[in-house]
Amino acid sequence: MSFDINKIRSEFPILNRQVHGKPLVYFDNAATTQKPLCVLETIRHFHNQINANIHRGVHKLSDESTQAYEDARETVRAFINAKNTREIVFTSGATASINLVAFSFGEAFVREGDEVIVSEMEHHSNIVPWQMLCERKKATLTVLPMNDNGELMVEKLDELIGPKTKILAVTQLSNSLGTITPVKEIIALAHSHNVKVLVDGAQGVKHDADVQDMDADFYVFSGHKIYGPTGIGVLYGKEKLLEVLPPWQGGGDMISRVSFDTTTYNDLPFKFEAGTANFIGAAGLATALQYYQSVGIEAATRYEEELLQYATQRLTSLDDIRIIGTALHKAAILSFLVGNIHPYDTGMILDKLGIAVRTGAHCTEPVMTHYGIDGTVRASLAFYNTREEVDRLIEGVERVKLMFG
Ligand code: PLP
Repeated sequence: MSFDINKIRSEFPILNRQVHGKPLVYFDNAATTQKPLCVLETIRHFHNQINANIHRGVHKLSDESTQAYEDARETVRAFINAKNTREIVFTSGATASINLVAFSFGEAFVREGDEVIVSEMEHHSNIVPWQMLCERKKATLTVLPMNDNGELMVEKLDELIGPKTKILAVTQLSNSLGTITPVKEIIALAHSHNVKVLVDGAQGVKHDADVQDMDADFYVFSGHKIYGPTGIGVLYGKEKLLEVLPPWQGGGDMISRVSFDTTTYNDLPFKFEAGTANFIGAAGLATALQYYQSVGIEAATRYEEELLQYATQRLTSLDDIRIIGTALHKAAILSFLVGNIHPYDTGMILDKLGIAVRTGAHCTEPVMTHYGIDGTVRASLAFYNTREEVDRLIEGVERVKLMFG
């Protein structure tokens, strides 16, 4: 291990909490991650010293606030290797970013009879906005299936893509299965048919977020899943595409001139940022990205991979455990079932032992339908988790088996 786990853990105060009289084991990182002290300090400092609305004031505070917001945009640009900051739109999160594209791209390019492709393993937020678009435009939603390991059947893509296909939306990393999808290959294939691709990076951004390398047309993620604040997210779009898309929402900041006869819109990226932006969230996100880079993304990813291997090996050494999601390329998300015990019961007992896991469909009901189950227990690990915490999970599962077995 190339980083100091004790030092890292000391930077996340919440990890010292007791839950039901036991030290917290936080294994719900795919739902939201914890925030390091530096992010909390950025938010506190902003509120205490800078707070003023951006882009509008002539006064010092507004200037500083605007500067911090635009600096955050540059930090995000560098983090995902976008060409320029005109391609970085701040939103409230991945869901808002996808809705923005589904609406604006839909308005510009999707007509009756056209097709949109999503994959079977998408989060609801990368299904429903496209369904709404298809309903609005009388277009068809087509599904790229997965196999029983939870791997996308990319070989089917050639036959699924037709002359009417306009856009394909796919996750980089499944939140319920842990599958890392071959987005680069999918994008290359889609582009060879002139089809645009939106990549949902909500989970994947922590591991590999080079938008130029993957050649994504759109890339989305949320701050709160990468150690940043809630209520802030990012839409990356290739400049040429964003330029031709109509605005999503109207309001302040997204306009250039307004009269009752006609309104003209602001330049990129402001055209897509109506209303007061979450400038404090943006600053917090920038601090989170810088912090994560200082930890070392590769080292953190490697550490999580080792932890996943350890957890998988320990869990599968128990009887009657079914792992849901056994893809060859997996990140540290472990979905499982304990015998016939309902995931909710497992989750409740684990909670009493101080262990936070998520239970249910994880906003991926089609994935559950694929496996013919209602839901799973999901332990999602982060670089601040430890083997000792995995051991506590295993002891907890043994306890669940004893109680319900
Ligand atoms: N996509 C994936 C793969 C997710 O895991 C999530 C959240 O769990 C989302 C999209 C939606 O993210 P948010 O709720 O932050 O908008």
